[in-house]
Amino acid sequence: MTVGDSPIEGTFPPAGPPTSGGSVAAGAGTRPLRIAALVKQIPKFEDMRLGPDGRLVRDGLQLHMNDYCRRGVRAGCDLAVATGGTLTAITLGPDSADTVLREAILCGADGGLHVTGREFAGSDTLATARALAAALDATGPWDLVLCGRNSVDADTGQVPAQVAELLGVPLLTGVREVAVDGDAEPDRLLSALLEHDDEWLRVETGLPAVVSCAERLCDPCKVKEPEAWATVDGSLIRRIGAGDLGDGPWGAAASPTTVGDVRVLEVERAAERLDAVDGGAIDGAIDRVLEVLVERGALVADDRGPVDEVARPSGPGDGGDVIVLGEPGRPRPTAELLGAAAGLAEALGGRTVLTVDVVDDWEALSGQGADRVLRHAGTTSAAEVAHVVAEPLGARPPWAVLAPGTAWGREVAARLAVRLGAGLTGDAVGLEARDGRLVALKPAFGGRMVAEIACTSATQMATVRAGVLPLLRPRPTGPFAADRLPPLDRPPVVREVDRRRDDDSDLLANAGVVVSIGQGVDPGDLGAIEALAGRLGAELCATRKVTDAGWMPRARQVGITGHSIAPRLCIAIGTSGRFNHTVGLRGAGTVVGINPDPDCELWDWCDVGLVADWQDALEPLVDAIVAAAGPS
Ligand SMILES: Cc1cc2nc3c(=O)[nH]c(=O)nc-3n(C[C@H](O)[C@H](O)[C@H](O)COP(=O)(O)OP(=O)(O)OC[C@H]3O[C@@H](n4cnc5c(N)ncnc54)[C@H](O)[C@@H]3O)c2cc1C
Repeated sequence: MTVGDSPIEGTFPPAGPPTSGGSVAAGAGTRPLRIAALVKQIPKFEDMRLGPDGRLVRDGLQLHMNDYCRRGVRAGCDLAVATGGTLTAITLGPDSADTVLREAILCGADGGLHVTGREFAGSDTLATARALAAALDATGPWDLVLCGRNSVDADTGQVPAQVAELLGVPLLTGVREVAVDGDAEPDRLLSALLEHDDEWLRVETGLPAVVSCAERLCDPCKVKEPEAWATVDGSLIRRIGAGDLGDGPWGAAASPTTVGDVRVLEVERAAERLDAVDGGAIDGAIDRVLEVLVERGALVADDRGPVDEVARPSGPGDGGDVIVLGEPGRPRPTAELLGAAAGLAEALGGRTVLTVDVVDDWEALSGQGADRVLRHAGTTSAAEVAHVVAEPLGARPPWAVLAPGTAWGREVAARLAVRLGAGLTGDAVGLEARDGRLVALKPAFGGRMVAEIACTSATQMATVRAGVLPLLRPRPTGPFAADRLPPLDRPPVVREVDRRRDDDSDLLANAGVVVSIGQGVDPGDLGAIEALAGRLGAELCATRKVTDAGWMPRARQVGITGHSIAPRLCIAIGTSGRFNHTVGLRGAGTVVGINPDPDCELWDWCDVGLVADWQDALEPLVDAIVAAAGPS
């Protein structure tokens, strides 16, 4: 990555400072829109804990509106006002969840719809989406359904795509700019800039549509005084139950996933702080940092290369198919998934099948683990791929379907899960075949917990976070079949106007060493920091304040609304170490902090910290590491 000369320019993606903002607009000719905003109540999880039974202790836990949903409500209010329309906030949850509707009304929503009742208890994403889609159907028609991009507790991002699939309408996901133009052609009424992983897309579509909001679309709606919630006129909130929505099943009975063991991942940091503010002490402090790094094995390059060879399943191959949904233009996550799929296929006596648009190099794919390829030539958008592959997979249900945990992978998988009625685990960090079933390890609450999720459906699905599965040594090529799937017989409903990539998210996901940068660094120094990081073979990552300021691409943001990473070594400079950032570094082997403030939160998150200006400490530290471990 090159910092300082970002390819972001012109009006695509958003130009000039402030880069943090998005936009919500409606043209003068737009009819009054009837808008729904789906809002989720989640726990504030900074002080969350598990009880002796391994379950989340809910007593005393503060509950609030999911941060992304706050953007949906704000954008909905703005569009309702601009078009003379209305906004209704909708939530699914117990009685206590009505506070999020009250907050939305205080922020400008015209009313609330509370889908509630004991029948909905235990809903997973598919059951939640079914209940919400049924409620939207029963109370529609709607022009626009706004959602948060994901909830920050479970972080699956599946519900918006599953609602869109159930309603049969387009989904725009990760929307950073949105505009409705009532004078445009019907299939271009809605235009948007989408923020996906490491790229930007400009798209157009018609109404109705589901829109999932990125964090920087607009300011969040927020009422700071919870006492105000009680002042909302209760008659503005309509309650509907299972009886109003049809036969069901609902809740746990409609949920094809089950949660098994849940573990809390407590990270113990050594939290040794070395006061080196006085320049004279810096050499001694750096010697101590180096000692700590050696003791912790942080200088020994972990072998991130191939650890094993891709398995070759044997036998007749009738144990079931493991399908990998290959994202167009992203070979690395596809290769990671194929290696894992081949291992699963070997365990169950099945075969690995890759769905992909083009086959450039069949030998490479065969070596990576594909026994068969289903080509959806010419079809690449998530919604279309889900539809094209659903037919053959529905006719012969596979044992499992794996997809990358990218924006594309999450949408294809979520839509396909609706079509196949399959359980889907989002953003898994591990996969295992146990007693003939797939068990996926799913982090939640910013990685503070990991749950084992299994599926009760015939086909078991998971999206997998990039960079967590090892890239295996290719096996010798072998039997390989390729079939072409029939194309869609209708034009795409979302028109892609432009697409640009401004980073490569695989680089950070797979980095062994990172330098994490906060806003205590001057942007003019980023080039020098990048050069120092380069000597360690390190990638740069950043706090939200840095990516908000546009100094580095958004794909570099680490934290609760950014990425979670697991490098062997992280050197954090110019950051205060706030929870929302450091939670994304929980997987780091060793963290070194550099900050002149002896009282900042960063020290609790470090194994060893230098109370110093990064300008004094980083270069000598890099020199010392290179001298001890050799150049990268
Ligand atoms: C809903 C929500 C989600 C969020 N999600 C994220 C997220 O995903 N990721 C994220 O990062 N943040 C996130 N945030 C923001 C987060 O809470 C913090 O505000 C942010 O991480 C702080 O960024 P910072 O450390 O760069 O800046 P600051 O907190 O301003 O810290 C700057 C630090 O730089 C130090 N400094 C100054 N000069 C030097 C120097 N010369 N050498 C060394 N250090 C120096 C200062 O002492 C200070 O401690 C989120 C916030 C909210 C509300």
